[in-house]
Amino acid sequence: MPKILVWVEHDNAAIKDATLAAVTAASQIGEIHLIVAGSGCAAVVQSASRIAGVAKVHVADDTAYANALPENVAPLIVDLMRQHDAFVVPDTSNGKNIAPRVAALLDVMQISDILSVEGPKTFTRPTYAGNAIAIVQSSDAKMVITVRGTAFAKARPEGGSGSVEAVAGGGDAGLSSFVGAEIALSERPELASAKVIVAGGRALKDAETFKTTIFPLADTLGAAVGASRAAVDAGYVPNDYQIGQTGKIVAPDVYIAVGISGAIQHLAGMKDSGTIIAINKDEEAPIFQVADLGLVADLFDAVPHLTQKLRG
Ligand code: FAD
Repeated sequence: MPKILVWVEHDNAAIKDATLAAVTAASQIGEIHLIVAGSGCAAVVQSASRIAGVAKVHVADDTAYANALPENVAPLIVDLMRQHDAFVVPDTSNGKNIAPRVAALLDVMQISDILSVEGPKTFTRPTYAGNAIAIVQSSDAKMVITVRGTAFAKARPEGGSGSVEAVAGGGDAGLSSFVGAEIALSERPELASAKVIVAGGRALKDAETFKTTIFPLADTLGAAVGASRAAVDAGYVPNDYQIGQTGKIVAPDVYIAVGISGAIQHLAGMKDSGTIIAINKDEEAPIFQVADLGLVADLFDAVPHLTQKLRG
C-alpha cells in the first residue's frame, strides 16, 4: 500500500483545520503518515496521533521549524520522501509555500489543488479559474499534491492511534529567518472554516465605511468577514480577507456578497458556497447569475436595515 506523508499545519499548540481535509484526501491514496515539524509542539503531536486513520506521526521538534519556514521544512520532507510515495499538503499559504520546493527538490511535477482522487495516481483539479475541471494523471515515481480544503470532508480528529517517531531534520538551512508576524486578532471565525461569510467589495468606499457597514452585519450573524480583491487593493481590509482566484477559496453554508460585482476571479473563490446572497444596486451585476437570493438595492440602505432587523 502506498505511504502518504501529510504535512500538518499548526501553530505549535493546535492543528489547523485545513490539515484534516488533506488527511481525508491522503486516505484515498494510501496509508497516512503525518509530519509535525515545529518547536515545543508536543500537544500538536498528541492531537495528530489521534486523528482517525493515521498510522504514524513523524516529529521534528527544533526551533528551526517553529514558524514553518519553507526553506527549512522542505529538505526535511525530501529526506522523509525516501520512505513515502506521495507528499500531501492543504492548499493554505504555508502549504503552497512548502509543496513546490519539495517538488523541485524531488524533480517531480506538483499536482495542485486537487478536488477528488479518481485512482492511485489520477485526480481532478480546477482549471480556467474553476470553469473547467481537468483530470490529471501523474507519471512520476513520487507525487507532491496540494489539496483544496473545501473539496474534501474533514477527517475525524479523534479515533486514531498513530505511532510517534522522532526524526532529525537538517535544522536551519540558513536561507531565511523569521522576522515577525502581524496577525489580526479577531473574535470572528476564520474564513476557511466559517459557516457564514459576509464579504464586501469596492462599493464600500473606504476602510471606515467597510468597518461600520459590514462588521455589524457579520457580528450579528456570527460570520467571518471577506472581501473582493478591489476592496483589499484599495486598503479597506488586510490582504488575508481576500476571496477568489488569488485569495482564499471558501465554501460556507451562506455567503453574503455586498457591493461585489461577481468578476470571474471572485467567483472562483466562493461559487461552491451553499446559499449565495447578493446585494448590489446594479441588477445586471454578474453576481446575480450565481446568487440563490438577490437584492437589487443600495447597500447603504439595505445592510444597516438588515442588521437592525436581525438584531430584532
Ligand atoms: P467592482 O467590480 O468595482 O464592483 C463593485 C460593485 O458594487 C458593482 O457591481 C456595483 O454595481 C456595486 N455597487 C456600487 N455601489 C453600490 C451601492 N451603493 N450599493 C450596492 N451595490 C453597489 N478579484 C477578487 O475578488 N478576488 C481575487 O482573488 C481576484 N484575483 C484576480 C486575479 C487576476 C489575475 C485578475 C486579473 C483579477 C483578479 N481579481 C480578483 C479582480 C477581479 O477581476 C475584479 O476586479 C474584482 O473582483 C472586482 O471587485 P469588486 O466586485 O469589489 O469591484
